[in-house]
Amino acid sequence: METVFIGFGSNVGDRVDLCDRAVTLLSLLPHSRLMGVSLLYETEPVRGETDPGDGWFLNGVVQIETDITPQSLLAILQEIERSLGRDEENRSGPRTIDLDILFYGERVIKEPGLTIPHPRLHGRRFVLMPLNELDPLWIHPMLKQSVDQLLREVKDPAQVQLLFPQPSTRYGSRPACSAPPGS
Ligand code: AMP
Repeated sequence: METVFIGFGSNVGDRVDLCDRAVTLLSLLPHSRLMGVSLLYETEPVRGETDPGDGWFLNGVVQIETDITPQSLLAILQEIERSLGRDEENRSGPRTIDLDILFYGERVIKEPGLTIPHPRLHGRRFVLMPLNELDPLWIHPMLKQSVDQLLREVKDPAQVQLLFPQPSTRYGSRPACSAPPGS
């Protein structure tokens, strides 16, 4: 089993519900265990190479332990994005849900279509803040700096704030398979 951090974000539709559904699906992955979920953060949309529209993002990070390979995990994340209505025609536009593999243990992977650690994570406050909540001492295997060091040094001007109030979420609660004894 390896420790994996997955970033999620949504800036269109019922963002809380979409994040909740994504986390719920991640909690049900086979050969995996959900270890932690950050709080939700609200993030100003940033126009760069892409134009995500005007809606603020909700962002967070999930920590799992898994033995699903990085390539299979990416395929599963893309399937979850599709199932939650991600617009394949306009991937860089507003997004119902975006899922990124941030770290996969200490692995460094550079293949067509898959780069781990995620190449932009250390420049994004909206990724570093929830990561810092889950594991501030986690070391970036290429930069050799901890998440809290990266957060202290990040220059990202985009505003990030804790969503207030935090929603009461469903994830972690599993549907009951059978009635409790005596009922
Ligand atoms: P996005 O539009 O931000 O969802 O980017 C998705 C694309 O980034 C996909 O085509 C992936 O193959 C690629 N990609 C590369 N590295 C990663 C990663 N670590 N996590 C998720 N997607 C990745």
